Amino acid sequence: MHLISLGIILAILISVLQLFPSKNKGRQYSKFAFAFIFGAFNFLLLAFYALTIYGYFHWSAAFTLDLFNAYITQLPKLLSVAGVSFIFALALALLCFLSIFLIYIYLSRYILLTNENIENTRAIKLRFRTAEISLKPVTCIRLMTIACIALYALTYRLWLPREPFAIAITNNWSLSNLAPIELFLTKFDTHKSEIKFNVNASNIKPRPLILITIDALRSDEMGVYGNSVNNTPFLSSLLRTHQLQKFDVVHSICTVSFCGLLGLLRSNYWSALKKPSPTISDALKINDYQTIFLLGGDHTNFAGLKNFYGNNIDFYKDGSVDSSNYPNDDFEVLKWLRDIDPKAPKSTFMFIHLMSVHEAGLHHEEFQKWQPFVAPIASALLAGSTPSNEYGVAYRNNYNNGILQADAMVRKIFKELKNKGMLDNALVIISADHGEYLGEFNRFHHGQEPYEPVSRIPLLVYDPLNPKYPDRKMASQVDIAPTFLYAIGANIPPIWQGVPLQVKTSRSSVSIASGDTSGTVALIEGRRYKFLKKRDANTEWLFDLNSPEAETRNIATLVDQKDILLKIRTLNNASEK
Ligand SMILES: [Zn+2]
Repeated sequence: MHLISLGIILAILISVLQLFPSKNKGRQYSKFAFAFIFGAFNFLLLAFYALTIYGYFHWSAAFTLDLFNAYITQLPKLLSVAGVSFIFALALALLCFLSIFLIYIYLSRYILLTNENIENTRAIKLRFRTAEISLKPVTCIRLMTIACIALYALTYRLWLPREPFAIAITNNWSLSNLAPIELFLTKFDTHKSEIKFNVNASNIKPRPLILITIDALRSDEMGVYGNSVNNTPFLSSLLRTHQLQKFDVVHSICTVSFCGLLGLLRSNYWSALKKPSPTISDALKINDYQTIFLLGGDHTNFAGLKNFYGNNIDFYKDGSVDSSNYPNDDFEVLKWLRDIDPKAPKSTFMFIHLMSVHEAGLHHEEFQKWQPFVAPIASALLAGSTPSNEYGVAYRNNYNNGILQADAMVRKIFKELKNKGMLDNALVIISADHGEYLGEFNRFHHGQEPYEPVSRIPLLVYDPLNPKYPDRKMASQVDIAPTFLYAIGANIPPIWQGVPLQVKTSRSSVSIASGDTSGTVALIEGRRYKFLKKRDANTEWLFDLNSPEAETRNIATLVDQKDILLKIRTLNNASEK
């Protein structure tokens, strides 16, 4: 597609510009017009590919027109969050454009031929046995364009679905790594009977249900989970005063927001997302609840995630509602919360999503406590940096500042819920969609295989009506939605895969996944093991998470681990169905 578009533009330009008079002045104009138009086109193409590569690294999916429209008005803010000054970005862009422009000014003497010098231009000579064919450069370009178009016509069915241009223009995420492909290919109606289940609305004991998710928050970095950095003063104080219950070993469903949030709301592991399933708001709707979504981040333009949340949402706002505001600013979410007046606070489910910890989240100055910190874009240039070197430390400082801000947001949310009379009998669950790499395995950001940094998330429960949940050695994001239904005495859809946190369970394994990897974490003979497998290949990993080497040593090939491997592989195969 790239070559074809270049070829077509080039062929048109050559044809049009050669119509100009061949006098000196006309030739100069033609030269500049050619270098400017063709250079600009090349520059835009390069920028597009750079954004596409950036997209696959940062959000595991392509760059699309939807995202372009969502962020173009917020470019200065986006750049400042990424740690790049607007002037620097502008200067860099101009420099790139100027370089391309100058290259084409130089090349124009070979490409752009006027009638005057067309005969004098050096031809490209090809020799086939005894015959010699002489081709002018301009003829070569035309022939190449025709060849490219012919090649395109013959093969486009094979590669078009994966072509970055085609994906961007059609906003087609179906081949992305965000969820099983079946989810994108089959649309289902949340009103249809296929998701209906036994309803016992008359036995419901309504109380406010609040879900707070913090994007890209890994548990081990939080003060409340034992990190020596005191970045969660509010949550830690709740835990100290026994108002908060903490689950230690909790795994996310996958490693990006899309499947993480959707799986959480539908209590589905990765594989189950292939089939229709009710979300928590569908399940609560038939129990006479109203649902409010207040989501930091742009869930509308990010792979159309909003569409997958279903129809049963009574009030919805996400970062895309006001294009004059930066979509990833949690202070906006707080404003929405302040303005909202739930008609029946007792029968309200509220889902609040925060972006303070996420690399694209807006960090406010008052929370920039740990210095020096480096904004996330720098890490893109830091391949090879480790958690302990200078950049790794600065990156972690930035992350800790984000956690401090998120903790303050949760404090403000609790205060606002109290003001609205919604806190006293509420069930509040605080968790995350996935974790974040902070230099482990030379990785930053999230996505990719579900290693511990990106798959271990917090799970904190504020439940004044039930202050003692049973211990659970291993929990999952899928347990959150059933916990809310259990708390009000509602029936749990049989298709859901989680187990309410209020009940004891004998479950000893949970599923984890990413775009190309399936996995299982299991307790076997008192030890925690992790199994990972590439879906399209036979590559397998087995890690003993209780050993000091943990995920740095693959024990899948060790003879004495054969039984463990067999057991966990069987569990993993079953979960993939
Ligand atoms: Zn996320």
